[in-house]
Amino acid sequence: MADDIRRIGIMGGTFDPIHHGHLVAASEVADRFGLDEVIFVPTGQPWQKADVPVSPAEDRYLMTVIATASNPQFQVSRVDIDRGGPTYTVDTLRDLHQMHGPKVQLFFITGADALEKILSWKNLNEIFELAHFIGVTRPGFALTDAHLPADTVSLVQVPAMAISSTDCRARVARGAPVWYLVPDGVVQYIAKRRLYQG
Ligand code: ATP
Ligand code: MG
Repeated sequence: MADDIRRIGIMGGTFDPIHHGHLVAASEVADRFGLDEVIFVPTGQPWQKADVPVSPAEDRYLMTVIATASNPQFQVSRVDIDRGGPTYTVDTLRDLHQMHGPKVQLFFITGADALEKILSWKNLNEIFELAHFIGVTRPGFALTDAHLPADTVSLVQVPAMAISSTDCRARVARGAPVWYLVPDGVVQYIAKRRLYQG
């Protein structure tokens, strides 16, 4: 029966730190696609960011847990962190399928900027078999599936949040506020662990 199938959103990211742009995108897609849950998956060492220093995985994981704790539909997975090495989305999707068994449908949520780069991802054909892709709008980037195979991606407009982790890190480094860009608990975690001090 079709309603036995659990509909699970996957929100992959570096989450260094997680911010309200990520949370709104996940919440909006969950509503529009009738998802049962959204699993946030912080990356291990991100291969696209090999040249930029990234905060320790445990800090990024804990900030993601803090930010999502109050939403019963939101979960956090350690698969990419615990696998070790660079994170490839094909491995994330394979692992989540293995963990959840056959009765799931996965929806991989990605911002317009990441969607643009998707053709450079490893094992693209398999990736599209493992999950349906949902591209969401992000201020400053054009949302288009023009370069992608037909019917592999849905495009969704989400409330515009001109927030990036890069800007949050730069703000902390220069002593500017990140209140209301990231959840309160994340502001406090950043201060407690002295992240992004430059
Ligand atoms: P960084 O500046 O370090 O790259 P980021 O803000 O882009 O951080 P990521 O962890 O790289 O955050 O992004 C994870 C996912 O969330 C990506 O698919 C990205 O496109 C999406 N995303 C990030 N910020 C937004 C936003 N403000 N609106 C919509 N989608 C977003
Ligand atoms: Mg990014």
